[in-house]
Amino acid sequence: MSRYEAQKRDGLARVGTYEHEEASVSLPAALDTDALFPTLRDRALSNVPLAIDPAFVENYFSPGEGQPVAVHPLAASAESGDCVMVANWHTAEKNPRNYAGWLAGLKEKIPPDTAWYAPVAALPSTACLLVYSGFDLFDYRGVDLATAQKKFCLSEGEFPASMMETGVCGCEGCREGDLLRHNRLALDRELALVRHYVEAGRLRELMEARCRTDAAQVGILRFLDRNYAFMERSLPVARAIPMQANTAESQNRAEVRRFADRVIERFVPTRTDVAVLLPCSARKPYSLSRSHRLFVNTVNRRAHELIVTSPLGLVPRELERVYPAAHYDVPVTGYWDREECAFIADILTRYFAAHPYRRVIAHLEGGALTVAEMAAEACGIDLEVTCEGHPTSPGSCGH
Ligand SMILES: [Zn+2]
Repeated sequence: MSRYEAQKRDGLARVGTYEHEEASVSLPAALDTDALFPTLRDRALSNVPLAIDPAFVENYFSPGEGQPVAVHPLAASAESGDCVMVANWHTAEKNPRNYAGWLAGLKEKIPPDTAWYAPVAALPSTACLLVYSGFDLFDYRGVDLATAQKKFCLSEGEFPASMMETGVCGCEGCREGDLLRHNRLALDRELALVRHYVEAGRLRELMEARCRTDAAQVGILRFLDRNYAFMERSLPVARAIPMQANTAESQNRAEVRRFADRVIERFVPTRTDVAVLLPCSARKPYSLSRSHRLFVNTVNRRAHELIVTSPLGLVPRELERVYPAAHYDVPVTGYWDREECAFIADILTRYFAAHPYRRVIAHLEGGALTVAEMAAEACGIDLEVTCEGHPTSPGSCGH
């Protein structure tokens, strides 16, 4: 009999406790899993490759006796409280499409209150992705294997052992010239950092940063994002911290799409006679900014105020205090790339198709104006452009 309880969640990632016989361990962590599961090393037939034909799985795969319960994308069955073990998961990292597909399939078939063990998979460079994917329990076999291969492990990747002498790390292992110790400590340190980000509700930001050094990890992040229904249901509807939308992947966050979909499908505008499209402000909520105080006074309730912004698309004034509109951060360069324009124009197009206004005024410039024009053309709206130069200039606000 074993038990898993999550204390904190961030998407698929959890911080929790797994109890098995006398042991109680806090996860995510790398542990000596031979001590936790003494019978595991004698177990046969649980090491079936992930990409194998169904007949092989049917003939040879066995979940094993007791804990952990081995699972396979083609044979996934476990009960609440189990620790499930996915053998060979490190091989999935080479194939982003399969990684995302297998993960969604496994997570859908297995109860959420289970601990997830990925044997041999964790390295300092993969720990963040594994926790982001919903794995909790790891061992030191991956880093010990890297040690045998004379590799120096960092969260940025694997380097030749000689790098240990260059001073990039000052851990106990490095000071004593002990590669095995450094590699184990580097994994512990990365898992501690990842845990902090899960607790802070900011793991997505760390994941977007960590994946940069490996094309396959970027691919996995994108394939997971494309599986919107799967990712969205484990994400919170509100957070107490700002959303940092600093990379191209940020706009694919399920939270961004969820906000846009809700504005289009659930939100009912208070009025549909005249809409005025306004630029966003660095300060959030927008109405606290100097420019928006000016806009609110100038519009003076004569129109429905809609803020055009990246990456959220469109924020009606009534929703400016709702997460993530109330606080998000994006790099402001004044330049909107084509992908960003197409993505946001699509949101505006869908919004105006769902909510036709008698008049639409665009008090915008630059990328935001381009986006509004793209949307107006797509849904056959005559856009009234009121900006002369900067949106807050006296000429612009006199209309
Ligand atoms: Zn070190």
